[in-house]
This record gives sequence, structure tokens and C-alpha cells, in this order.
Amino acid sequence: MPILVENFEGLTRYHVTGSKGDIYLTDISCYWGSGKCNCQDFEIRREPILKLGKAEAMKQAGSEIWPNPKYHCKHLEATFRKIGHELAIQLAVSESRKPKSHDEM
Ligand SMILES: [Zn+2]
Repeated sequence: MPILVENFEGLTRYHVTGSKGDIYLTDISCYWGSGKCNCQDFEIRREPILKLGKAEAMKQAGSEIWPNPKYHCKHLEATFRKIGHELAIQLAVSESRKPKSHDEM
């Protein structure tokens, strides 16, 4: 069963249904846009480093890129993928409504 992501509240909170039917809550506004999840993987392996601060989390990840996938559980990955997919659809639809003079796409 694929992971299902549904918007829950506002623009940043999502319900994520895992492959075994288990439901988690993600919020991508937490930890400077890296996001938070209430699964064990996030709370035990990833969140303790985030609680040390963004600079320390970047140092431990060995990268200035933020958000860093090192701090994403599979539910946060699925949430970001879903948002990216929805944004792509919105961009494509809004582009397709613009009059085109240079081609007939
Ligand atoms: Zn999670």
C-alpha cells in the first residue's frame, strides 16, 4: 500500500497514512522548514539533533543545504513530494491558461 498524504490544517500540516495503515502527523513549518513528524524514526533518530539548533544540525549533516534529507523520515519525504507535485500541477495549469503567441502548445 503506498503512503497517502492529505492536507490536514493550514498550509503546512498533513496526515500521512503509512504502508501499514498507521497515521502520522507532519508539519513542514517546524525546525526552520525542515519539518516534524510524530513517528518513532523522527522522534528517536532525527529530532534530538534538530533540538540542538539549526547550525549544529547542518554541521552534523555535513552540508549547508537546508532542509536536509538526513532529517526527513519517510512521512516527511512523502509530504514534501506531495506538495511539490501539487505545486507543479498548479504551475502547469496556470501556464496553460496564458495566451501563447510563440507556439501552439
Ligand atoms: Zn515520520
